[in-house]
Amino acid sequence: METDELAERIRAGERRALARAITLVESGRADHRAAAEALLERLTEAPGEALRLGLSGTPGVGKSTFIESFGTLLTGQGHRVAVLAVDPSSARSGGSILGDKTRMETLSRDPNAFIRPSPSQSALGGVARRTREAVGLCEAAGFDIVLIETVGVGQSETMVAEMTDLFVLLMAPGGGDELQGVKRGIMEMADLILVNKADGDLKPAAERTRNDYAGALRLLRRRPQDPEGFPKAICVSALARDGLEGAWDEMRALADWRREHGHFEARRAAQARYWFGEEVRRGLLARLERDPEMRARMDDLGAQVAAGDVTVARAVAEMLDALGAAP
Ligand code: GDP
Repeated sequence: METDELAERIRAGERRALARAITLVESGRADHRAAAEALLERLTEAPGEALRLGLSGTPGVGKSTFIESFGTLLTGQGHRVAVLAVDPSSARSGGSILGDKTRMETLSRDPNAFIRPSPSQSALGGVARRTREAVGLCEAAGFDIVLIETVGVGQSETMVAEMTDLFVLLMAPGGGDELQGVKRGIMEMADLILVNKADGDLKPAAERTRNDYAGALRLLRRRPQDPEGFPKAICVSALARDGLEGAWDEMRALADWRREHGHFEARRAAQARYWFGEEVRRGLLARLERDPEMRARMDDLGAQVAAGDVTVARAVAEMLDALGAAP
């Protein structure tokens, strides 16, 4: 299919065309890459506007269940919802597949939803680019809410937070000491903490957990991009579909406040700058690794550093000189 036709079909909101375009941006083939870039250029002439939501949580916390319920709530309100996934585990050992359609049965059949499982690509840098481009494609296809799902592991959370407008953390009710397991950095990233499974026997524990998180959030420094009371912790039940409207109200209130106060656009601008820097760094490294002469020099200097014959600083300066960059 020609770029023009594919672009037109995406703009018309055709999900099959969108899926095809995402396959194109995921591909490692040079001709696919060229086609993907042409397509993206075409579509960004008139970019769409979606609210980009990041959603993170450890396996089993209820992400799929939440996306199924929350996504259905949103499409029921007339929204068009796209779900993308960032999976940091290359082998996917033991973990469930993110964006698994079989676990979001209603949503995956919903004509106003689009679900894309995580690609099998393993390099996080590549996944980042693919996901950002996929977000652009979803927006061009008229999806007004793009939800990016990831698991609570290391770098992938930071990555998702750097490409979304709001970052939501899903937590499970715990026995009281679970706060210790939550890294401070993740708490600082979260705009909203949803304590899931607040139903049946788990409800009291969920309430206690919520109070613990609310207390911990109060201790964090108030961020200039937040109104009073944020970041917030609330209870939900993805299974019983309880508290989801409330969660959506909070997300909207925060997004609206940020729009009114200029923080929304400022965050997008900072993100664009961040990814520009990341891509340049990635490109430089790729260039270094592609060039056999450079690679040999890296190996040689690495061996000298390891043997203690040369300092790290000197070896780096030599490498950068060789690259033609001033140290
Ligand atoms: P994921 O790995 O984070 O995607 O978690 P899943 O959505 O697959 O859920 C893991 C398990 O928790 C499943 O057995 C769900 O039925 C259950 N679960 C998810 N949400 C809720 C909830 O709100 N309440 C209860 N009681 N169980 C839930």
